[in-house]
Amino acid sequence: MKKATMFHGHICPGVAIGALAAKYALEHGYEHSPDEELVAVVETDNCSVDALQALLGTTYGKGNLIHKDYGKNNYNFYSRKNQKGIRLSLKKSLLNDKKLSRDEKIQKLLNMEPESAFDIREIEYDPPGMAQIEESVPCSICGELTMESRMMNYQGQLMCIPCYKEFKQ
Ligand SMILES: [Zn+2]
Ligand SMILES: [Zn+2]
Repeated sequence: MKKATMFHGHICPGVAIGALAAKYALEHGYEHSPDEELVAVVETDNCSVDALQALLGTTYGKGNLIHKDYGKNNYNFYSRKNQKGIRLSLKKSLLNDKKLSRDEKIQKLLNMEPESAFDIREIEYDPPGMAQIEESVPCSICGELTMESRMMNYQGQLMCIPCYKEFKQ
């Protein structure tokens, strides 16, 4: 929790949820990932994800943290080493409890077993592909180096997405 809070910048219920999910993963053969051994596919972009980055090594920069913008506290983990996957889905009763203060929520979460905070089930081993290293080429308009796969073709000119948007107006 300390490590996650340091990384995140403050202590909050979100970090406690992420720490709890990470704890479960670590205790069930989903080891901290110096490279891309572990992949997290998360369906939220809230505070909890920072705990996963800090504790599991599933980070945005390495490409083993995938965000699906569904607005749900669901966390899917895939272990490339063990070829298995699990899904943790936060039980709804927790965060919406209006009787609890923020601090009480944090305390409650920290004293909880992951099994009572989440619905947990094994999922098919079907992780997203490994991160790709790709050539960058200069945009024909602004000149900034841009990954080739993100270039847009506008009337035969290759340009970056922001330049393309401006052109299209
Ligand atoms: Zn937070
Ligand atoms: Zn450009």
